[in-house]
Amino acid sequence: MNTRNTSRRDFLAAVGATSAASILAGSAAAPTARAAESTEKLAVDGGTPVRKQTLHHQPYGPQFYDDVEKQELIEVLESRAPFRWSARESKSLQFEKAYAAHIGVKHAIGVTSGTTALFTAMAAMEIGPGDEVILPAWTWYADYDAIVLSGALPVFAEIDDSFNIDASDIEHRITPRTKAIIAVHLQGTTSDMDPILEIAKKHKLIVLEDCAQCLGGKYKGKYVGAIGDIGINSFQLSKSITAGEGGAVVTSDPELFERAVRFHDVGSIRSPYKEDLKGGLLAAFASCNFRMNEFTGAVLKGQLTKLETICAGLRKNYRKVREGIADLPGLKLRKTPDVDGDLGVGVFLDMGTRERRDQFLRAMRAEGISAGGPAGSAILPTDARIENKVTIDPNWPSFNTPEGKAIQYGSACCPRTIDILGRHGGVIMDPNYSDDDVKDIIAAIRKVYTAMNKA
Ligand SMILES: *Cc1c(COP(=O)(O)O)cnc(C)c1O
Repeated sequence: MNTRNTSRRDFLAAVGATSAASILAGSAAAPTARAAESTEKLAVDGGTPVRKQTLHHQPYGPQFYDDVEKQELIEVLESRAPFRWSARESKSLQFEKAYAAHIGVKHAIGVTSGTTALFTAMAAMEIGPGDEVILPAWTWYADYDAIVLSGALPVFAEIDDSFNIDASDIEHRITPRTKAIIAVHLQGTTSDMDPILEIAKKHKLIVLEDCAQCLGGKYKGKYVGAIGDIGINSFQLSKSITAGEGGAVVTSDPELFERAVRFHDVGSIRSPYKEDLKGGLLAAFASCNFRMNEFTGAVLKGQLTKLETICAGLRKNYRKVREGIADLPGLKLRKTPDVDGDLGVGVFLDMGTRERRDQFLRAMRAEGISAGGPAGSAILPTDARIENKVTIDPNWPSFNTPEGKAIQYGSACCPRTIDILGRHGGVIMDPNYSDDDVKDIIAAIRKVYTAMNKA
């Protein structure tokens, strides 16, 4: 290794200047950056780190809390009507209307969480014992749990290099019992919806979009949630906008909407849903209470006005990082079916093997950049309670049919998912990262990647 003693300031000046230049002028300045990189000892090997203090992203929504949310909350307090159906002008209702209009669906229903939104969607789709639902092997627990707690059978499909469900791994899993496909748009990248919709149409299946990690993301010009038959969202802390907790169900289908309305509100339909549904066509059925409270509705109404600012900030930084590393030889990034619609939550590199990925992450962290593998979800088939099909009661309908008894989870059912997630590592974006923060991310990736490619 070259041990030429470059001072940290000289190095940063060189890399900073060239990165900024390459952002503006493509790769014209890249040779200088490469020269600097080739002489710089990695921090993990005792060299000077790119940053002294580690760069971490923060939850997005709360960074944008200001007088807008404050005013909305004060209005709820002063009205003394925190329950939506006793409020004169319900904040939850105003949020629902604004949210539906924003993403381009007819109806939105505010609920208490993304998880309860999934339960509500299952009821809307009439998923029950004997039904099968296809979902990606890498996703959040709630997708699996909502299927199982409905009494239906979860059938996992592999993900592809976008970290989302692989459309080409769906069709051979369809049986006469399959009722729905859940497309989960994970860590800001949309699923490739066109082939999924085509398969669903061919086999008469319902498509549920789980947009919890991708609110504001677009696929071919449409917001996620407005593409499938029904969608869900979460407003928990780590999502695009937040009230700490909260969720929503969206659809343009009146029947799905009516069942979702009834399920989330003790079987009833109240005004103004009632007028929206012309009184309703369906009978009430055993249901729940997942109604949104007015404080949550108020904060979300305020947060929604910031959604596009948050998305624009993420996308700007995501693009800069992608452009700043685009000329690295042999670079392979996480696949995205729509790079412009991608929410830009993270920039992930395919490092080829898990060993090299882990080496990359260690080196990146030593440079002062918090880096990680794909996160915010789990490889569900390998989770013990899933692998062992553990339920509240051993006679649970999901796993007492011949199919439920026969299905095998565990690592053998998703080898490709395990491989893909193991080889990728990257950096999560923050909408408020400064130009210098972004330059440091670029500098660290360039430095580590270049050193690893030489070794
Ligand atoms: C967060 C999340 C959920 C559940 O949302 P909660 O509000 O936490 O219940 C569901 N699906 C995905 C993909 C998520 O990331």
